[in-house]
Amino acid sequence: MKWTPSDNRYEQMVYNRCGKSGLKLPALSLGLWHNFGEDAKHANKRAICRTAFDLGITHFDLANNYGPPPGSAEIAFGQILKDDFAGYRDELVISTKAGYNMWPGPYGEWGSRKYLISSCDQSLKRMGLDYVDIFYSHRFDPETPLEETMMALDHIVRSGRALYVGLSSYNSKRTREAVSILKELGTPCLIHQPSYSMLNRWIEEDGLIDTLEDLNIGSIVFSPLAQGMLTDKYLNEIPEGSRADQHKSLNPDFLNEKTRNNIRALNEIAQGRGQTLAQMAIAWVLRGGRITSALIGASRPEQVEDCVKALTKPDFSEAELAEIDKYATDSSINIWAKSAER
Ligand code: NAP
Repeated sequence: MKWTPSDNRYEQMVYNRCGKSGLKLPALSLGLWHNFGEDAKHANKRAICRTAFDLGITHFDLANNYGPPPGSAEIAFGQILKDDFAGYRDELVISTKAGYNMWPGPYGEWGSRKYLISSCDQSLKRMGLDYVDIFYSHRFDPETPLEETMMALDHIVRSGRALYVGLSSYNSKRTREAVSILKELGTPCLIHQPSYSMLNRWIEEDGLIDTLEDLNIGSIVFSPLAQGMLTDKYLNEIPEGSRADQHKSLNPDFLNEKTRNNIRALNEIAQGRGQTLAQMAIAWVLRGGRITSALIGASRPEQVEDCVKALTKPDFSEAELAEIDKYATDSSINIWAKSAER
């Protein structure tokens, strides 16, 4: 039987303007990095996406290499688009990216025109789309002239493959350079996608967060739950089937005693606010309206439901923020630091 989304889907979500652009994004967006590969059940992928859309999450974030194997998350999402979201394309903001290793040989990664344009074409084919809403350069390429990478993004928009372009994990200095080239080309940079959470505050130290505000560029921060560390699941042990248990991108060594103690203290603050830790972690990245969207992942539909409730208690007192600062310290979990360093 054909699925119909909830009539109330726009009632509880908050939509934030992306920089000074015409586009608004939901305060929470859903990423398909994990849990959408061939190792996961399709029915669960479908349930997660349906729940997200029912709750007003209009933005779905992908990349060429999401899986495993690389490409399979886009194939799964293409199927969901066809089966469930077919009549709703204009209500969705779909993004994809290219930058990390995707296929063998010299043209399958980084930032050349050759790689970005062919990768974008492959992504469109896998998802069965004519265009994506946002196409990203997934990481800065130190060996390709920045002009070439930005000209490829400009071409991707002008040729109708994407409506907007974005940068991911570029540091503040490289962001300024890239944004200036894009501006000259006439394709403004819409958005930046960096990692950011209470345990990974590099965008504050690097100044990227100020740069984005200064340049009127939107921001969508990924892994706001520190891949699940900022939830109540790792307070005492590593539960079976969790991301840390699967030894994927979340190294169990990140959950050392010092970090765990900080997480426990943050969990108590969240409880005092009447929230789950996941909800407080999301409210915290969105605090003060500087971030456009928090880009979460989920392995079950119930996690999406829990996370969206973050919006029912978005504000923090000065005292709460000061208390959080005691424990929201860098925990050496930024596995994307290399992509920003150059
Ligand atoms: P995250 O939201 O920090 O972590 C998601 C994980 O947290 C889930 O898989 C789940 O772990 C756990 N979780 C979520 N909600 C929960 C809840 N309410 N209660 C308990 N546990 C909960 O984000 P992420 O998955 O690391 O990244 C999100 C998205 O960001 C990705 O899908 C991708 O789109 C994007 N991203 C981009 C880049 C880039 O380079 N641009 C890099 C990484 C990610 P379990 O699976 O253990 O249940």
